[in-house]
Amino acid sequence: MSDCLFCKIADKTIPAKLVYEDDRALAFRDLNPQAPTHVLIVPRKHIPSLNELTDADAALVGHLHVVARQVAHDEGIAADGYRVLFNTGKLAGQTVFHIHLHLIGGRALGWPPG
Ligand code: 5GP
Ligand code: ZN
Repeated sequence: MSDCLFCKIADKTIPAKLVYEDDRALAFRDLNPQAPTHVLIVPRKHIPSLNELTDADAALVGHLHVVARQVAHDEGIAADGYRVLFNTGKLAGQTVFHIHLHLIGGRALGWPPG
């Protein structure tokens, strides 16, 4: 999608600090990290939010989690623990409408989130 920030990062029109990429997904560091490790895992396919997800996307969303596991391992945070989440919609604070799994770790994380 031409006016989407994360589509532009995926096609390298806009730079980002990539930590992983394959034919279906990429992972890059959040511009405004909320923890020592804060990586966004993004499908190449433009899906605005979880609200627009279909059954056909199930394997893709599963794949994002497999990538999260790999990045957590590579970042050295797998053993101590980390969090992965999709913000969805206004009340959750979603600001970029191309789904992205936040991978957050490297410090103790409060629960429930604010
Ligand atoms: P959301 O609030 O939609 O769940 O998350 C969007 C995330 O994208 C935020 O954590 C924000 O810091 C990050 N972000 C916004 N613009 C950019 C950008 O241009 N590059 C990168 N790497 N991250 C961005
Ligand atoms: Zn997009």
